Amino acid sequence: MKEFLDMKLSNLRNKNLLRDTMDIESPQGSRVMIDNKEYILLGSNSYLDLSENENIKSRVKSAIDKYGLGAGGSRLTTGNYDLNRVLEETIAELKQTEACLTFSTGYMANVGVISALCDRKWVIFSDKLNHASIVDGCMLSGAKLVRYKHCDMEDLESKLSQYSGTYNLIVTDAIFSMDGDIAPLKEIPKIAKSYGAYTMVDDAHGFGVLGKNGAGTADALGVSKDIDIHIGTLSKAIPSMGGFVAGSKLLIDYIKNIARSFIFTTGLTPINAATALYAIEEMKELDDDREHLLELSKWVKDRLIQEGFKVPNTQTPIIPIVIGKAKDCIELKNGLLEDGIYVNAIRPPTVPKNTSRLRLSLMCSHSYEDLEFVIERLIYHAKSLDILGDKV
Ligand SMILES: *Cc1c(COP(=O)(O)O)cnc(C)c1O
Repeated sequence: MKEFLDMKLSNLRNKNLLRDTMDIESPQGSRVMIDNKEYILLGSNSYLDLSENENIKSRVKSAIDKYGLGAGGSRLTTGNYDLNRVLEETIAELKQTEACLTFSTGYMANVGVISALCDRKWVIFSDKLNHASIVDGCMLSGAKLVRYKHCDMEDLESKLSQYSGTYNLIVTDAIFSMDGDIAPLKEIPKIAKSYGAYTMVDDAHGFGVLGKNGAGTADALGVSKDIDIHIGTLSKAIPSMGGFVAGSKLLIDYIKNIARSFIFTTGLTPINAATALYAIEEMKELDDDREHLLELSKWVKDRLIQEGFKVPNTQTPIIPIVIGKAKDCIELKNGLLEDGIYVNAIRPPTVPKNTSRLRLSLMCSHSYEDLEFVIERLIYHAKSLDILGDKV
């Protein structure tokens, strides 16, 4: 065993693909404490910086006093609280669907929904860059998996005409987590209709960030009602734990009875459910923060592009700086760490080989001063590693 594990790990180490965790000692804000040093944090999914929100915190403290700590059981046994129902009604209203069901994580929502719905009679058409939890759900379902080129509607149509089965599902991230681009959600339902396919959209990064009242990417594009299955998380802009599926009442009743990652696990703790509920109520009112977040993101992207970094011009707070080699990416990350800047280096298998990248993500609370400092240090390290300009 030891030899096997040593060999596997040193293999990863040699390829600069070994990963480890960092201990944060403060709330997840635009600045965090690590080992008694303050860092500017630029990799968080907490886009609205709600984790220190006093109003949410004080309501959650009251919920702890009322409900205590653990959930005590799975949702279908003793682990269901009135909080869960109100949370689900609130999400369904935002998503303009009849019903909603929460899971313990977004990962479990994807795995549970896809594997409950699809079997060998189904063909699933999945964007090549979809999140790992979608891929895992597809594998577990036993359906035939057909992956189409990233956001390429011609390829999707050609695959649909070639491989359509008895039942067909098109599934996509709404915002691609490592690229920050938005899926063509206006086209996908139209294509689905003409080929008799159903649609499933995972809006983990859009919920709370885009659309009116933070309803999400489909809302921002005016297509909420054209999508059969909405997936989301309560762990990104919403500072809790959990995931959800929203759709017709029939779909939700079915998922509740069949999805194994819903049935065979403990429900959201009352603390997580309360946090999610109160944070969503707060988040709905933050259209100004959302607007500011997108302005900040655009400003950073424009500055980086101006300085010669190859950065895609996305409409989201996710800003990938593709470096290429894992080694360069790690060196850049480590240089920034010494400057007091914490950015994630994203490497395979999270992204395809030779596309290792720094993934910056902004919070609405970042200051222009901090961001200007980050850009200055990025330029410095990129120049000293000779990866700026044509080579980036
Ligand atoms: C983060 C993420 C998930 C998983 O959500 P968790 O609540 O963190 O388990 C699912 N899909 C996408 C696209 C994600 O980015």
